[in-house]
Amino acid sequence: MFEISRRDLIVGAAGAYAAFGLDRPLAFIGAAQAQTTPAAPGFKSTKVGDLEVISLYDGVWEKPHDENFIKGANVEQTKAELKAAGLPDGFVPIPFTMVAVRSPSGVVLIDSGTGGQTGGPKAGLAMQSMQAVGIAPKDVKTIVISHFHGDHIFGLKAKDSTAQVFPDAEIIVPAAELKWWTQPIDSIPAPRRGNAQAVQNTLQTWKNVKPVDGEADLAPGIRAIPAFGHTQGHTAHLVSSGGKQLLVSGDITNIYSLFAKHPDWQAQFDHVPDLAVETRKKMFERAIAEKWMVAGYHWGLPNVGTISKDGSGYAFTAA
Ligand SMILES: [Zn+2]
Repeated sequence: MFEISRRDLIVGAAGAYAAFGLDRPLAFIGAAQAQTTPAAPGFKSTKVGDLEVISLYDGVWEKPHDENFIKGANVEQTKAELKAAGLPDGFVPIPFTMVAVRSPSGVVLIDSGTGGQTGGPKAGLAMQSMQAVGIAPKDVKTIVISHFHGDHIFGLKAKDSTAQVFPDAEIIVPAAELKWWTQPIDSIPAPRRGNAQAVQNTLQTWKNVKPVDGEADLAPGIRAIPAFGHTQGHTAHLVSSGGKQLLVSGDITNIYSLFAKHPDWQAQFDHVPDLAVETRKKMFERAIAEKWMVAGYHWGLPNVGTISKDGSGYAFTAA
């Protein structure tokens, strides 16, 4: 059963494109070929040493296929890989899953979700997922951000204004990311200007935003690991406790069935595509060598597990 109207889908998809830094929707799926993807709040808890790490599901964007999405693969190859992974292939299902860490000094959120302001009509469930696990916005003392694409930061602001959802939290952002998005608007490539304007109206003006440069400890047990390429300042986060580590990898890859399996495939969302490929491989090799668990923002639920070599690419196995 296809329960959203075609109009909702179009409006949602158009908004999604804007936030991903693309200037226009390129194609729409027809209701007849659409398959539904579950869209309900959810969470999954994992232990990393003594720390509890909670994956919070924020919904899914059913991204219409288009030939420009992946450099390195056409739509037929993309569909074949989705099918092989047991996923719907009438669109590319791109889920959003944030991570919360319960630390002795309060809850630390890693990224903030879509805020229901991008990602289509099935995104924006993060607050319900937080509520389901018993975390209230006031419990969140620190938010660390991987990068400034809308699906990672719009959850910081109210839907109809630039008011903050977490006004009492410290928001720690990669300095390189803040610098890139707050350049004079004319210096930003045209398709990314809308997102840049949103950053300049919010994070740039908020007093509780703290830019941090390079590899650094951000909160007890949480270390920033620069992983540039997806964006100019994209940063992963290593959660460590009791000799165990979890790499919260942000957008080092988009969905693993496509981009971990084929690390050379370049999603349209990558700002510096060649560097994104290099970083993807380097970080996965490091995670394998160091025996880190890995979580991805677009990996659905469960999104925490291990990465292993798989032919010329990598495979994800849920914990
Ligand atoms: Zn993303």
